[in-house]
Amino acid sequence: MFLFIWKKLGYIRIMNNRTDFCDNCVLLRATANFPLLFMHLNQAKKQRDYINQKRRAVVQTFADFDNPVKQTCLISCDLSEKKRIPIFSDQPAQYYYMSGFTIDICGMLHETSHQQSNYLFPEGHWPQEKGISLIGSIWFHYFRHHPHAKVSERMIIVTDNCAGQNKNRWLVWLLASWIIVAQHSGNNTTEITQLFPIVGHTKFGPDRNFALISSATKKEAICTPSQLYDLVNSRCGKHNSAVCSSLVIFYDWKCFLEQFFDKTVPGIKSMHEFQYSIDHPGAVFVRVDSDSPFKRIDLMAAGVTVEHIRNPDGVKYFPLTVDKFKMPPKPIDDARQKQLDMILKHYGTLIGTKEEYQGPCTL
Ligand SMILES: [Zn+2]
Repeated sequence: MFLFIWKKLGYIRIMNNRTDFCDNCVLLRATANFPLLFMHLNQAKKQRDYINQKRRAVVQTFADFDNPVKQTCLISCDLSEKKRIPIFSDQPAQYYYMSGFTIDICGMLHETSHQQSNYLFPEGHWPQEKGISLIGSIWFHYFRHHPHAKVSERMIIVTDNCAGQNKNRWLVWLLASWIIVAQHSGNNTTEITQLFPIVGHTKFGPDRNFALISSATKKEAICTPSQLYDLVNSRCGKHNSAVCSSLVIFYDWKCFLEQFFDKTVPGIKSMHEFQYSIDHPGAVFVRVDSDSPFKRIDLMAAGVTVEHIRNPDGVKYFPLTVDKFKMPPKPIDDARQKQLDMILKHYGTLIGTKEEYQGPCTL
């Protein structure tokens, strides 16, 4: 059987310890297309080196400036795999893994202090729309509350290439609008750089912390969102902390941003670096590689000015103007509730009451 599979596949993909290679790498290896493989690996290495060089420069700003405003804030952001509870170390019934109460996790890692804020989103307590409404709302919360992100003039954000979440017109518009309004919303941000490592080669900081969370959940039973919140805060290493979903206000960013922007970045998928600056409001500078030239793209719709974004309805500041775009949580529907009721019935008091099992993630 082994020989049959071996002959049919012709290549082995090793999981664990060597996960930094993508489908492209596998395909190029399998077809022995070594010139293209080396080009691909070189590009991945070049982009990783560039990000590491930025990281070192950020660390240097901490050495050079006592003033946190002058230091650069580098954040890595990633969505983790969702957790389904209850989680037991010896789980006999696979079924419950598949349909358990779901908690999505998004990690925002402050690279200099190594502190990761893990946002926990239990089912039924958020709009359950991944994409800009989730990512934009988390970023907005983080920018306005993280002590360093709040005061820094310069920010660098590293994310993976997921088009649905991180690399789309709305996120580009969100950062372009944030640059325009940040200083009118209590922040100091004047410049943002967004970096994307090459697809499939995005092993980075948040993954390390997610691994710590996963390994901690294997050691003890987790039956409620509050227990997961407690575990992340106290038993997943000193660098992990949990943020409850109820602190995040969700906005319909698409509707908000479409009022002001209508230009997109051509070939956005192939871009590696995006820069926004208060000196060029409404514009983004993009490039495909760390050594290629930047191209300027103006994003604002005809007739829209900076003042429209800062003050669209005569309301003075940005947080107030987005209030009417708030999104309510999506309630759990009847069919889904039936599945959850079965789990509650199966485990009885072992996982607590319905309110605890399907509750928010505070203690
Ligand atoms: Zn690859």
